[in-house]
Order: sequence, then C-alpha cells, then structure tokens
Amino acid sequence: MTNTGGGAVLDLAGIVKGFGGGAVLDGIDLTVPRGQFVALVGPSGAGKSTLLRLVNGMHLPDRGTVRTLGADPAGCSRRELRALRARVGFVFQQFGLVGRLSALENVLMGALATLRWPRYGVMTYPRALRERAVEQLDRVGLADKRFQRCDTLSGGQQQRVAVARTLLQSPELILADEPVASLDPAASVLVLDTLKRISAEDGISVVCSLHQIDLALSTADRVVALRSGRIVLDEPAAALSEERLRAVYRKAGARAD
Ligand code: ADP
Ligand code: MG
Repeated sequence: MTNTGGGAVLDLAGIVKGFGGGAVLDGIDLTVPRGQFVALVGPSGAGKSTLLRLVNGMHLPDRGTVRTLGADPAGCSRRELRALRARVGFVFQQFGLVGRLSALENVLMGALATLRWPRYGVMTYPRALRERAVEQLDRVGLADKRFQRCDTLSGGQQQRVAVARTLLQSPELILADEPVASLDPAASVLVLDTLKRISAEDGISVVCSLHQIDLALSTADRVVALRSGRIVLDEPAAALSEERLRAVYRKAGARAD
C-alpha cells in the first residue's frame, strides 16, 4: 500500500459499478481534498451508499480506480485493507452501537480496529485509551452520559456516541451514510453541527450522504448530487441556492423536502 498523499484524501476516476443488472454507478469522477466536508445528496437508489462502500473497499468497482488516502482498496492485501479502514471512520444511519453496553464501552470499541485482541469491560482497556475515549465523548457533549447504557439514550445522543467512537480511531476521513435519516430535525442539526465542528478542528475530511437538502446546504463545504449513478451537480455549498438544488431533485423524481 503506497501512500502518495498529494492533496486529495479521495480520488474516484471513471467508476462503474453494478450488481448483475444495470450500472448502479455509471462513470463517477470525484476528488475530495483534505479537510473538506462533502454532502452527497440524491434520491433513494441513486447510488450514494454504493459510492461510500467503494471508498473503503466494502465494494470493488467493475471499472475505474479508487484511491483512498493514497491506497487502492482493490490492490490491498487483507492486512492493508484493515490498516486502511482503521484510518477511515464510518457512521451508519442505524448507529451500529451495542445497546446493552455503556456509551464509554461503545466508544472504546472504536479502538478495536487497532488493538490486537478483543476487550471485555472498560477496565481492561489501557488507561490512556479510556481517557481519550472520555475526551471524545466530551467533545460530542456526552461525557456525563458515559456510564449510561446506549439503549437508554435518545437517537441523537446515540449517533453522537457513534461519532465519538469513530473519532477514537483518529480517522483522516469519515464516511457517514445518512447519519441523520432516523433523527428528528433538532437532533439532526445537532449531530451534523457536531460532526462539522470536530472535523474542522481535527482536519478530517467527511463525505456524508444526506436526504435533506437544507441540511446539506447548511452543513457542507461542497454539495455533490447523484442521480441514477451519475454526478449531476458538484458545487461549493456557498454558491448554491436551495431552489436550484431542489430543481435537481425534482428532475430526479424524488421528494423535494
Ligand atoms: P442510495 O444509497 O442512494 O439509496 P444504493 O447505493 O443503496 O443507493 O443503491 C443503488 C442501487 O443499487 C439500488 O437500486 C439498489 O437496489 C442497488 N444495490 C445496492 N447494493 C446492492 C447489492 N449489494 N446487491 C444488489 N443491488 C444493490
Ligand atoms: Mg443509501
């Protein structure tokens, strides 16, 4: 795995991907410079999740090349892929937490990508790591909830725990697949603001798929719109009006909320 770095954390060139039927992604070119927060918008089925999965090697492209943090997942050994994934955080719509474990234990699981053996219970983790985990919970505003079971937290709180867990990996890139799709509007704003603030503080690039146009515009540096596996719009959020972005959505036949 060579790390040629450059300015880009992510470089997709000529990506075509299908699952036996037609192309789900059909000629994607996308370069993300270090530190940028990209919102990936588009209707259901546009190919957002597939694109995000290509970035960390969960899918491999049929054609084209992926370079993630200088590495091509298709050319990585299993060990190299593991190392690459440790540098790429992933946040899911459904949080992916273990409900019966505490917030702190869930955050500590973010270290499993780099620790060589599984741990059972907070006290079996090294003290420095425990302190870092509490620090990350503090950054998402949940240090006081660290001993609370995750299944007793609100959806928004759980997603912030998931963000803290990802931060424990010290990722260079965070992929978030509709992280606020199951949250109410207020919680959505809080989760996205938290992700935005912390990624700016740490210089982490983010590619975040979102259904809500207004949230994409208010959060991201750049908005990329997908439709039927193609990029139909790619512009700085500041230069983009909500009206124009909605028009792209309407053309796609999606709900324009
Ligand atoms: P989005 O995240 O924008 O809703 P997806 O990337 O999940 O879109 O899906 C795009 C298309 O690819 C959909 O038609 C979906 O059914 C199809 N698809 C996604 N993953 C798979 C898979 N593993 N096997 C077969 N079809 C898939
Ligand atoms: Mg999806």
